[in-house]
Amino acid sequence: MDKYILVGKTLEELENFMIDNNQSKYRAKQVYNWIYLKSVKDFDSMSDLPVSVREMLKEKSQLCSISIKDKQISKDGTMKFLFELSDGEYAEAVLMRFDNRANLTACISTQVGCPMGCTFCATAKLGYKRNLDYNEIIQQIFLIQADTGLKVTNIVYMGQGEPLLNFDNLLKSIQIFREHFQVGARRITVSTCGIIPKIKELAKLNFQSTLAVSLHAPNQDIRKTIMPVAEKYKYEDLINTLKLYTQETGRRVTIEYVLMKHVNDSVEDAKELAYSIAKLKSNVNLIVYNQNEKSSYKKPDKAAVQKFKYILEASGKKVTIRLERGADIDAACGQLSAKMKKV
Ligand code: SAH
Repeated sequence: MDKYILVGKTLEELENFMIDNNQSKYRAKQVYNWIYLKSVKDFDSMSDLPVSVREMLKEKSQLCSISIKDKQISKDGTMKFLFELSDGEYAEAVLMRFDNRANLTACISTQVGCPMGCTFCATAKLGYKRNLDYNEIIQQIFLIQADTGLKVTNIVYMGQGEPLLNFDNLLKSIQIFREHFQVGARRITVSTCGIIPKIKELAKLNFQSTLAVSLHAPNQDIRKTIMPVAEKYKYEDLINTLKLYTQETGRRVTIEYVLMKHVNDSVEDAKELAYSIAKLKSNVNLIVYNQNEKSSYKKPDKAAVQKFKYILEASGKKVTIRLERGADIDAACGQLSAKMKKV
């Protein structure tokens, strides 16, 4: 018989589990705190539980259905976790610490592989296997906390997969992060390649986390050569949908733009982008392309990045350049490909 998975359960569910197993109900609150406040590695660390309760838990339940298969640490401190799922598939997450801030940001996956086929992204090359269920999504954060003993303060859905194509599990996982892990809505960011109908649904739900959109092009022509999703959801329609989204939620969106040499990094591209998003309530996050061996795209020159930034700023946008993190362990944006460490 499958064991009962504890991480992700509400206090009420844990209480019922305790009662079903002839334990007093108040033990559930202790377990709840060990899971969500302390993220302990195992039942023996739940030191205020009597041995008999711990034995019952070991017999009838387990904390997670996924496990850490491998962990790599970059020279900049970034950590990449490879998780093994119960069906033998793999998923990855990345933990980033920025020296000047107390924040600890975890980047998590929502799918095994990815179906979107962006031509520049390493995850796309894996193809698509399946959606992660919400338990597999939240367990990534639990296991990172259990392994490091640190509290994740910010969560970005920017790992493998397209979060908006796994909509119900996405929303359920966010709810659990907010309610049980005590991570505020504003500290959660969901990145999408632009699935229009789902963005409209988020608008209706008055989504309060940050929506980031991988735009990566100043127009439809360029976008469709690098992002197949643009065939289905056109550039103009995407921008208009985002305008609606900002009106309905009152929230600014983040426009993500990966700069690739001679693809989308010219002065004209910057001007055209500034024009297309001029009336969209948005900040821009420029990402310098992370090269990988399987791709022929190149990093832009430093001067091109600065010019691009300057043109957008001159148009009135707030622009940030995303710091490259963990490139030496293939943990940077677009490098997640769930490959096992070669030994
Ligand atoms: N599918 C979602 C979530 C992935 S987020 C989305 O498309 O937004 C990962 C981000 O890294 C996306 O913006 C993606 O376009 C970007 N990316 C992919 N390959 C990259 C690379 N080689 N260098 C820099 N960014 C890359």
